[in-house]
Amino acid sequence: MSQPILPGATIGILGSGQLGRMLAQSARRMGYRVHTLSPGEDTPTGQLADREVIADYDDLSAISAFARDVDVVTFEFENVAYGAADCAAQYAPVRPQGQVLHTTQNRLREKTALTHAGIPTAPYQRVEQAEDLAGALAQIGTPAVLKTAGFGYDGKGQVRIDAQTDPVAALTSIGGGPAVLEGFVDFAAECSVVAARGVGGEVMHYGLIENRHHQHILDVSIADMPLPPKQAEKAYEMVRAIMNELDVIGVLCIEFFLTQSGELLVNELAPRPHNSGHLTIEACPSSQFDQQLRAVCGLPLGSTERKAPVAMVNLLGEHWGDRAPNWAAALRDPAVNIHLYGKAKAMPGRKMGHITAFGRDREDATQRALAARSAL
Ligand code: AMP
Repeated sequence: MSQPILPGATIGILGSGQLGRMLAQSARRMGYRVHTLSPGEDTPTGQLADREVIADYDDLSAISAFARDVDVVTFEFENVAYGAADCAAQYAPVRPQGQVLHTTQNRLREKTALTHAGIPTAPYQRVEQAEDLAGALAQIGTPAVLKTAGFGYDGKGQVRIDAQTDPVAALTSIGGGPAVLEGFVDFAAECSVVAARGVGGEVMHYGLIENRHHQHILDVSIADMPLPPKQAEKAYEMVRAIMNELDVIGVLCIEFFLTQSGELLVNELAPRPHNSGHLTIEACPSSQFDQQLRAVCGLPLGSTERKAPVAMVNLLGEHWGDRAPNWAAALRDPAVNIHLYGKAKAMPGRKMGHITAFGRDREDATQRALAARSAL
């Protein structure tokens, strides 16, 4: 096994959003240096990094120079081109490896890998072009969801198809194929498992987190979703199987649909810390960002135990309104913490920060987090 990358070394983060920022916070706390690369300037990660490199992800000479200057390269978002990861790997370990990105940044490749590993998903059909729609719809039926195969997130690049929808127009509306047509899941709930896998293949997870979305964007996450232990264990088995199959070193989040009949279907994978895992910052001895750092540096993983019932709510641009939010009012409840990502401009749908709250139980924690947001 390779030597661990120890404090004092430099972590290179491709991407510069809030996930990189919170990773940088963990890294700084443990005495690492941080470099970040993205096309942006004064970014959430860059504000906290030792060095903010401004370059496109397909600028391979910039990626090479970046990788030469760091001890390990990791990601904070998965849509970095595979070629960039490959290029960086000539100069520094890239964790997770580029192949993981290659698989997870395309819904068709991801679903194929899941099916190959025997993991249940919603029924799906490949739609390369408009001519494939009729056949796919005949297999899947309506309602269905048509999703662009690449570069989709937070419900972007997807459209619901009902019996009366013109499927060709729907495909055009998401930018054409390749796409995937999925059966619409009338789910009872959505949940996720955030897990870390170290260089030796050990896996630790943070339990089942219940997720509530609003307009396709995560709104509320609540730790320790109460599922029968057998069912929860099935989810954790899937997590281990997927992480082993993809040979992930780092953090991976698996999003699930819980069907009305109690079955867990995998919706999608994110090969990085995830919005639903932000509550681990306060709630666990080692947060998902501490864990990403430990995993990519080849260090032992930390404890994922939850200290108390906890919930998180997102702060999106629309929560700003036309005046500055009343932070003091939100903080009146001492069980509440606010995280802001240093983004100057609040736009609808833009993730600006989040609020975490502890409570007596899951419901109390959720109400406190929501009340704090309302008080803004
Ligand atoms: P995604 O970008 O695939 O994670 O989708 C964002 C959200 O859209 C999910 O969290 C669900 O709330 C909803 N969604 C996506 N796919 C489906 C589906 N096949 N059936 C029902 N809802 C879906």
